[in-house]
Amino acid sequence: MSEPSIFTRILNGDIPGEILLDTGRVFAIRDIDPQAPLHALVIPKTEDYRDVTELAAGDPGLLAEMVAAAKQLASEHANGEYRLIFNNGASAAQSVFHVHAHVLGNIEENKLVG
Ligand code: ADP
Repeated sequence: MSEPSIFTRILNGDIPGEILLDTGRVFAIRDIDPQAPLHALVIPKTEDYRDVTELAAGDPGLLAEMVAAAKQLASEHANGEYRLIFNNGASAAQSVFHVHAHVLGNIEENKLVG
């Protein structure tokens, strides 16, 4: 068995973190290094999927639950609008290989790149 990911350790209360949402199969935490006023990470509780490509192929319903959780966070912590980012692979800036979505909200206009 490999070590639990940093996100699983937060979910289990083994290391500190602010849990914003728990929908049963999905949870969300506040990102420790926020890039926008709302910057959360939506994470499936299972560690079976490394990235969104694997998740979409293996459990598309769980991916849909992640999107619904992102919308809920945006409604509760921003104005309902949100940016959803998945980094896929080390050369695409993924550092934690337990699939997660970055949810950004209330982004200042001059910081909206891409
Ligand atoms: P990157 O680090 O390049 O953003 P990822 O897409 O894998 O790569 O995202 C991992 C995210 O996890 C980062 O935004 C990082 O700030 C966040 N993070 C790392 N450790 C913690 C923690 N202890 N609590 C909350 N967020 C964390």
